[in-house]
Amino acid sequence: MKIGFVGLGIMGSAMASNLLKAGFKVTVWNRSADKYSPLVALGATVATSPRAAAEISDVVIAMMATPAAVLSVRDGAEGIIAGLSSGNGYVDMSTVDADTSLESYRLAHEKGALFLEAPVAGSRKPAEDATLTIMAAGDRELYDSSLPVLEKMGKKLLFLGETGKASRMKLANNLVMCGMLTALCEGISLAAGSGLDTAQLLEVLDSGAVANPMFRLKGPQIAANKEFPTAFPLKHMQKDLRLALQLAEEVGQPLFVTATINELYKKALSENHGDADFAAISRIIRNT
Ligand code: NAP
Repeated sequence: MKIGFVGLGIMGSAMASNLLKAGFKVTVWNRSADKYSPLVALGATVATSPRAAAEISDVVIAMMATPAAVLSVRDGAEGIIAGLSSGNGYVDMSTVDADTSLESYRLAHEKGALFLEAPVAGSRKPAEDATLTIMAAGDRELYDSSLPVLEKMGKKLLFLGETGKASRMKLANNLVMCGMLTALCEGISLAAGSGLDTAQLLEVLDSGAVANPMFRLKGPQIAANKEFPTAFPLKHMQKDLRLALQLAEEVGQPLFVTATINELYKKALSENHGDADFAAISRIIRNT
């Protein structure tokens, strides 16, 4: 199966690498050309446009930053849709709102192609290790035929039904994750500010009901108050909070905690922490 891969950021680069290592023929495209060389070294071909990546492939995958970035590679004369033909597949793994996915589904179907939204849970390391959780929705036929590809990127795969359900599931997942991380940052700040040993706080947390891999990974970095490598850019987490709040408004569900946390993330963005890891929210909490 020939794969097109559009969007070679933190996640896309790692996911495309795994497809190449698994032996798929992969054609890549990215806005910035500096992302190509590691993938070309693994055997990737570079396309001249998202359209060209789609034209040459059976299935074209996109992993873009935001809904606007999805539109920029999907639409127009050089976009993915222009390169789709009957029977081909378009899999969008970006975290976006359901309306963006529903429009992608409509446009793909206009060309006689199939569409799947397939956002992921798991960050840089799970992307590298091919242990992502993949939440898919849309055309079941494309999900079934793409399984050999998806299985090379993720370890837990779920088909959730019609287009929109995977986007919504991903947003619900991320507001829980962000709430937990923000609470951890507040707990560490409170412990440090009241003369406690933050390493001991982490030990206490890890021995009880709230023990989890994210606290184990990020807790020591936050407690040390040092620079940490960006796994999940803070600007993308704020995008997810914004989309979750938008969805909540659509369905009439108040999100009291998420709304407050979103204000904190907006403050972090205004202080130029957007490209830092989302755990950099600890700096805002510490300094507020
Ligand atoms: P990233 O490193 O910022 O990469 C984003 C990609 O989008 C890059 O290929 C970038 O191109 C492209 N892009 C951004 N704006 C664009 C535009 N206007 N036109 C064309 N291309 C544009 O992001 P990431 O961490 O890989 O995340 C990708 C998606 O996965 C996001 O939706 C994110 O929310 C989601 N996600 C991320 C993680 C994580 O831990 N990182 C985990 C789960 C889900 P350039 O290289 O040219 O900038």
